[in-house]
Amino acid sequence: MCSPQESGMKAVGVRMVTRSRSRGPGAGPQGVGDDAASLRIGEAAAAGRKGSGPVKRQRKAQRLSVAYEASGDEKGAGTEHLPAPAWEPPDWRKQLENIQTMRSGRDAPVDQLGVEHCYDRSAPPKVRRYQVLLSLMLSSQTKDQVTAGAMQRLQACGLTVDSVLRMDDSTLGTLIYPVGFWRSKVKYIKQTSAILQQHYGGDIPASVPELVALPGVGPKMAHLAMAVAWGTVSGIAVDTHVHRIAGRLRWTKKATKSPEETRAALEEWLPRELWSEINGLLVGFGQQTCLPVRPRCQACLNRTLCPAARGL
Ligand code: SF4
Repeated sequence: MCSPQESGMKAVGVRMVTRSRSRGPGAGPQGVGDDAASLRIGEAAAAGRKGSGPVKRQRKAQRLSVAYEASGDEKGAGTEHLPAPAWEPPDWRKQLENIQTMRSGRDAPVDQLGVEHCYDRSAPPKVRRYQVLLSLMLSSQTKDQVTAGAMQRLQACGLTVDSVLRMDDSTLGTLIYPVGFWRSKVKYIKQTSAILQQHYGGDIPASVPELVALPGVGPKMAHLAMAVAWGTVSGIAVDTHVHRIAGRLRWTKKATKSPEETRAALEEWLPRELWSEINGLLVGFGQQTCLPVRPRCQACLNRTLCPAARGL
């Protein structure tokens, strides 16, 4: 059994891969690697997983993109019978462009230490996917640096479903401390690992409903796991940064009270090709500029476009 001391002595570098998050509609997932799409196609298909949710959303997004992308000519004579365009925030394209400019350095903590960089690329595919899920479970209410450190210590012990199940709670707790709510996470990780071993052959499920059914796994984690581990864009991953910034920029038609409400509101209008990019973009923006408390509005390119700009 791996002790916390051994994990420190054997610590291996957390995989840090600098990878652009800007991806076109046909691009693969972030993180798990270039072979993630083939993993998804080969293994999910073999498992007979249909992914009905994403298909429905894709139809919706295709409809929206027609409305957004109509050219000036298309808006001329003869277009009066087209359905009215869906609601969208008036300045969102310029606001997004400004955020992309501010984030062009890709130098926020999430860019180096986010979930895409916390798994062992040399591990077998299902182990990599398990590590992706585990890093997501550790990351809630926890800074990226702390999550990365915990993953580093766990990986030094050989991070697999079996190794975690063999580990006693005390050792697991010591290895993941000081991630937020570490005591609860010890319990959830053990319970989830047991389910993965018993029902998924040590792999993680490939659908959002199955993922959120696991103890300690929420919707944001599920959508990120689908993107990073399976290469499937199933929805927008909304955490506190995305929720806060969407509210400040009025990117939801009505005020939203929870990340889940914000996710649904954003998916109503944000073109699908931006769904995988938006999380990392806004998380880093929230870490560096649009801070939870005292946002740096003076340095923000959106200060004249933002209803929540302060001290101008
Ligand atoms: S102006 Fe301030 S509140 Fe608005 S997006 Fe920029 S940093 Fe955030």
